[in-house]
Amino acid sequence: MDIITGNVGWIEVICGPMFSGKSEELIRRLRRSMIARKRVEVFKPIIDDRYSALEIVSHGDLRMTSQVVNNAGEIMDQLDWRSEVVGIDEANFMGPQLVDVAQRLADSGKQVIVAGLDTDYLGRPFPPIPELLAYAESITKTLAICVRCGNPAKHTQRLRGSEDLIVVGAAELYEPRCRRCFEPGIPKQAEMDFVKARQAQKTDHREESRPRIHTGIRGTEEEV
Ligand code: ADP
Ligand code: ZN
Repeated sequence: MDIITGNVGWIEVICGPMFSGKSEELIRRLRRSMIARKRVEVFKPIIDDRYSALEIVSHGDLRMTSQVVNNAGEIMDQLDWRSEVVGIDEANFMGPQLVDVAQRLADSGKQVIVAGLDTDYLGRPFPPIPELLAYAESITKTLAICVRCGNPAKHTQRLRGSEDLIVVGAAELYEPRCRRCFEPGIPKQAEMDFVKARQAQKTDHREESRPRIHTGIRGTEEEV
């Protein structure tokens, strides 16, 4: 969505799981601002150097030159204060100061466009995105396609076990899943295995105890 408010600042948040098109949408909006001859700057956290140190890159290979910062506080140091539009990608890795930084930028008249994961690999709200949503003028929730069933996906499934909140990686480590196909972590998986094992046990038991009757045809039995 493009919001037109004259020259007052505001915050736009684009959030959703991995592969949902957050970076694409961020790049699209920033390009439109450049077409409108606005001064645009883009920042990304140093942790995300999966594809390129100096660009934000979408999974579909859209690219845009960006500046790298260790945390949100550094945006204030690096920013050219003449910039009218400030894009921030991978915002969930920017740290808690991001809320204050985005507020200050918006209060000083800048259009702040933030893209980031709204939930972590266990499906929990991923700070500081939830708090930013409360301060934002505009919120866009992007959904991916569930790789298991093709439904809209709001979860980021981690494929290999690790208890760390931040494990950076792309297709080989994460995939989007819908609510139904999402398996958050080992405890739920273990629980499902337990349920499956119990069901298998019951089936075996039924198999043994199921009464059988002769149909009259030689060599056949019918179950009831
Ligand atoms: P995000 O920033 O949310 O991780 P990107 O903008 O980098 O997403 O990438 C979105 C692109 O990823 C889509 O346009 C599509 O080409 C590609 N893609 C690959 N797998 C999927 C998927 N399962 N669901 C949706 N898009 C996918
Ligand atoms: Zn699914």
